[in-house]
Amino acid sequence: MRRLAVTTWGTVQGVGFRPFVYGAATARGLSGWVRNGADAVRLEVQGPDEEIQSFLSALRAPPAAARIERIDVAEIPARESNGFAILHSEDDRAARPTLPADLGICAACAAEIDDPSERRHGYPFTNCTQCGPRFSIVEALPYDRSHTSMKGFPLCQACAREYEAPHDRRFHAQPIACPACGPRLRLISRAGARLASDEQAIDAAVRALLLGDVLALQGLGGFQLLVDASNAAAVATLRERKLREEKPFAVMFPSLEMARQSCLLSTAEEAALGSPAAPILLVRRRTGDAIAEGVAPGNPRLGALLPYTPLHRLLLAAIGRPLVCTSGNLAEEPMCTSEAEALERLGTIADVFLVHDRPIVRPVDDSVARVDADGFRLLRRARGFAPLPLRLPGIGSSCILATGAQLKNTLALARDGEVVVSQHLGDLFSALGARLLERTARDLTRFFAVQPQLVACDLHPDYASTRLAEALAVEWNVPLERVQHHHAHVAACVAEHGIVGPVLGLAWDGAGLGIDGSIWGGEALLVDGAEARRVAHLRPFPLPGGERAMREPARSALGLLHEVLGRDAGRHVDFAPAQLRILLDMLTGGVNCPSTSSMGRLFDAIAALAGVRCRAGYEGQAAMELEFAAVDAGAGAYPFPLRDGEPAVADWEPLVQALLDDRARSVPAAVISARFHAALVDLIEAIAERVAVPRVVLTGGCFQNQRLLESAMQRLRGRGFDAYTPELYPPNDGGLSLGQLYVAACRKELRDVPGHSR
Ligand code: ZN
Ligand code: ZN
Ligand code: FE
Repeated sequence: MRRLAVTTWGTVQGVGFRPFVYGAATARGLSGWVRNGADAVRLEVQGPDEEIQSFLSALRAPPAAARIERIDVAEIPARESNGFAILHSEDDRAARPTLPADLGICAACAAEIDDPSERRHGYPFTNCTQCGPRFSIVEALPYDRSHTSMKGFPLCQACAREYEAPHDRRFHAQPIACPACGPRLRLISRAGARLASDEQAIDAAVRALLLGDVLALQGLGGFQLLVDASNAAAVATLRERKLREEKPFAVMFPSLEMARQSCLLSTAEEAALGSPAAPILLVRRRTGDAIAEGVAPGNPRLGALLPYTPLHRLLLAAIGRPLVCTSGNLAEEPMCTSEAEALERLGTIADVFLVHDRPIVRPVDDSVARVDADGFRLLRRARGFAPLPLRLPGIGSSCILATGAQLKNTLALARDGEVVVSQHLGDLFSALGARLLERTARDLTRFFAVQPQLVACDLHPDYASTRLAEALAVEWNVPLERVQHHHAHVAACVAEHGIVGPVLGLAWDGAGLGIDGSIWGGEALLVDGAEARRVAHLRPFPLPGGERAMREPARSALGLLHEVLGRDAGRHVDFAPAQLRILLDMLTGGVNCPSTSSMGRLFDAIAALAGVRCRAGYEGQAAMELEFAAVDAGAGAYPFPLRDGEPAVADWEPLVQALLDDRARSVPAAVISARFHAALVDLIEAIAERVAVPRVVLTGGCFQNQRLLESAMQRLRGRGFDAYTPELYPPNDGGLSLGQLYVAACRKELRDVPGHSR
């Protein structure tokens, strides 16, 4: 007879782990107990040696949603012991991030709501230990019902029986509910008047959608706006009201079968769509499908997703056609989470509101991902992934908060060698965005009951995230580390993959402040933890009007050509004569023409010169359309030489000359784009050969370009390099907080180790 004390670390709360332990123990006739702690799940088991061994191996294969990082086992004296119990949670230890992300509806719950004989038939808040809300409803750890926004819904007898029954799928499922005791659905007008309840609310919402109305839906982690995706007028209305001209909308399909009718799906893509995280997946679109052109204008891809809550499932099943499903906000503001806020902020966008009384504790937007040659890749990390922790054994035990970038912001918090990156918070230009950032910083530190000893941010003084970091460092009386933007980009990928030692990091994006005060974005950095050296960069060019160039690719083209042709540049770029004169005067006089080495702006310039796009409706649009335009015609790559120097300079001038020659010969945009992409891959190889370190990281927003990323990875691997790119953290600025945190932690380690200097 043996007795063991076992502690399991990882994502083990709210995922049916204790019922699983209970089942594994009782099936083997073992006695003892299991209990949720704030920092881990603890248990004791007692029984014959053979059964104990078998139990331990079972423990290593937990339920699908659980992730075990470590199991500590200690032999303790056997004692009088009967049966196996699930004990109450202990509150007394410091909280560790052991909380799971929100989980999409599981097959068993889906079958239940479809089954007329079940008491949860048609009930939109059905969930169990394997599915349902988590992060979006949790107020504190440990994860118990009393710490969630379900605390106001006492369990009815039937639910309480399920909650207490060890063999039930709902054993200790914290957010469970049923029509008798749980949240209720209502359809309300813009004025807040009740139009219908429960099932009638869904029916009335469907009727509104079929008439072309815009529906605001209180989803899992915030409000969403829905319209009939096949109704061009409804889609146009939504665009107009939401002030969103061309940026693609995601489409939710009632079923995988219906998604297949509009999208070309691989097996891996189908698996990702149906996974518990159920992200928006960027997939290839079939031509001639039922989706209105205005959903994703000129885009060969579609952001597809499947219903991930019972409410979405019931609504989509009732309407039987795909719906546009986009965040409930105006332009680039944060999502609404409460009914009052939605009525106020979405009152001019939505016609009707489908709401319920389960409060959303924090906004959690849909994640965005794609599956490419290397596998699954996140582009926006939110629902289903945040706040799953990343273990970073290299960073010591310091508590650090990093505040991220200005665009696609996320925060990162480290504690005990583990990092939690917040859900995607969006852009910070609006006051609402900046407020959400601060609220999330305080939410995260309070949630994990920590006080950071160090705050990290970007070098850029005008980011709202930098200003917050400065204020928090003063408030907490702790040091502030400013981390260069592209160093942070590379460091994020190093951290994610646990890479040890120096790497060559290619950080290609739109803009980030460089250590010389100019705008960087086409950078090659030699990064070793706290250290970064700029080893190569794009030859700089002026941007007439600075930030305005982001929306007007033709300005990047003019700036680029002006470097080579002077005022003759105007002959190649399409501007009204008066505006052209002003812009050329600015360039000649060097007035309001900041210099940049940005690869994003080079993409814009090439898109404009290739005739693909001269005005952009949203960030990255020109580059995306240039990527989609490319067709290989065997025309080879443009020359893109890497000039000697420290740092080396990637000279685009021969490329631009060859491109102008192509234009003069009316070479189509498809070929120009293919030759440009091929030139970039050659350049990446040239930089890697020049720097000659075995590990190469490709990151920054430009590497969201699948054509560029896949061919560069393949080329580097073909030349014997280990090529890395972000997978579960975005390559764009959404990954920046992780990188800032990693660099700050490395610098702190260097300072803290006595006698260590470099
Ligand atoms: Zn379930
Ligand atoms: Zn109930
Ligand atoms: Fe960036």
